[in-house]
Amino acid sequence: MLFKVNRSEHYDIAIAGAGFAGAITALVLKECGFNICLIEKGKHPRFAIGESSTPIADMILRSLSSKYNLPWLYDFSRYGSWQQAHPEIVCGIKRGFSYYKHYPGKAFSTDDNHINELLVAASVSDELSDTNWLRSDIDAFLVTKVREAGIGYFDGTEITSAIRENSKWEIAANYNNNNQTIHASFFIDATGSGILADKLFSVKSSAENFLTNSFAIFSHFDNLPRWTDILRQKNIATNDYPYDADNSALHHVLDEGWIWQLRFNNNRTSWGFVLNANNLSLQKMQTKEIWNMMREKYSDIDFILKDAMLSAQPGNIIRSGRLQRKLEKCFGDGWVAMPHTIGFVDPLFSTGIAYSLAGIERIAEILSGNRNFQQPLYDELQEYENIVTEELKLIDLLVAGCYKTMEHFQLFNAWSMLYFTFTIMYEQKRLKNLPVKYFLEADKAEVQQMAHSAYKDLLKLTQQETISQADISAFTDSVREKIKPYNIAGLMEPSFKNMYHHTVAVL
Ligand SMILES: Cc1cc2nc3c(=O)[nH]c(=O)nc-3n(C[C@H](O)[C@H](O)[C@H](O)COP(=O)(O)OP(=O)(O)OC[C@H]3O[C@@H](n4cnc5c(N)ncnc54)[C@H](O)[C@@H]3O)c2cc1C
Repeated sequence: MLFKVNRSEHYDIAIAGAGFAGAITALVLKECGFNICLIEKGKHPRFAIGESSTPIADMILRSLSSKYNLPWLYDFSRYGSWQQAHPEIVCGIKRGFSYYKHYPGKAFSTDDNHINELLVAASVSDELSDTNWLRSDIDAFLVTKVREAGIGYFDGTEITSAIRENSKWEIAANYNNNNQTIHASFFIDATGSGILADKLFSVKSSAENFLTNSFAIFSHFDNLPRWTDILRQKNIATNDYPYDADNSALHHVLDEGWIWQLRFNNNRTSWGFVLNANNLSLQKMQTKEIWNMMREKYSDIDFILKDAMLSAQPGNIIRSGRLQRKLEKCFGDGWVAMPHTIGFVDPLFSTGIAYSLAGIERIAEILSGNRNFQQPLYDELQEYENIVTEELKLIDLLVAGCYKTMEHFQLFNAWSMLYFTFTIMYEQKRLKNLPVKYFLEADKAEVQQMAHSAYKDLLKLTQQETISQADISAFTDSVREKIKPYNIAGLMEPSFKNMYHHTVAVL
């Protein structure tokens, strides 16, 4: 768009970054009565990663929709209503989380007890299911809503500096080689990385203190074969599956890490390796070498990728650096950062979208209760910082445990039940309209105790020279015992054979 800044216009809040978090924050705060502008350095539609949604994300979308008078947002909380309202905005059905363990040098195999499979349903039907978001589509749509709402939207705009004087920001920006100035009382960083916070506020981002150490190699592909068709060709029965595994967040678990496979309803699939960077020889390899090595090692991965065609967008394979990062400070004088800007662990368990939406809820509450941007605003932002930090730490612990178990799928299976238990605890609270403060109940002593004591046991076990079947069974039993008081979904019930049909009440 043409960058026209009315120099006399003073915004209450300037938001940088028009991903879904920046756009929804802008829309919500506009409904709270603030005069908002949204500054984006790129242009929509653009490729973005972070696609697999969850029931928690859906619940928060519905809550934001009704609380902030955004009725159209409700449609995006279920596959059925999304398709009915906006068939042109691409998404995929996500009925739950599916995991398949592949062993090096062997074709995928399993048994009647689904020993190498784990399927956890999160919804009861396609109609009511979660979604895989094609971010280029949904993010671009949200920006049209931003414009319709009369929010100042400046894209293709690079922020060069920000000066704070007399409780006001003077933000210098560059659009098409023209310098512009934007005035605002408060600033929200929703840029999805720590780069801008460093540039404007000298706040650094680092991977210090994370337990997880991973990196990703990913892209979008057209016409990838359906995994369930491959299972059928192998005569592997899927008749007791809770759903079609291709309509889910499908994970292939490898010894070196894992793969996400997220299918959209236009024949496009998001596919990515997330690999353990503690494996130094792997980390040093070229992207192409890793890609080829994985295909050589895992024959079914090779089969899936053999005719893979890169989608037009992004059109290339992307390699990330270390995924883990956290800002040393989440707010300052006249500014705050959104959760994904503050930090990130790893996409395992798809926590990102829900974590970001939970942050929007909190920031909207805090700012609408502090319209003059004076105290107690900063006390509340300090509490926000404490909350997001604790949440990140819990996600880190849960994900780090998974990487320790990837060579032993039964251990992976048992360990991941902690995540599903905490999710169910949080979902149940929201369903009952009870107040929830921390994502995944990260503030609850019992959650911390369960996670930390299980992690201690896991560390002890995985440091052993060999891990016996008896060790694995003992660990599994101990997790089963720990989650027992909260396990309303029959998790780890042997007769379910790793197939969980209902973990969430009908929403
Ligand atoms: C590899 C990977 C896989 C993931 N998979 C999942 C998943 O399956 N499920 C899930 O829930 N989450 C996932 N996530 C997390 C997910 O990506 C984030 O939760 C989500 O993108 C957060 O949205 P956002 O709007 O905050 O940030 P972003 O999507 O990063 O958007 C930030 C926006 O800010 C703009 N911007 C950047 N710098 C500037 C600047 N200086 N000035 C102005 N604008 C700027 C960018 O162009 C962009 O439009 C994944 C993350 C990674 C890294």
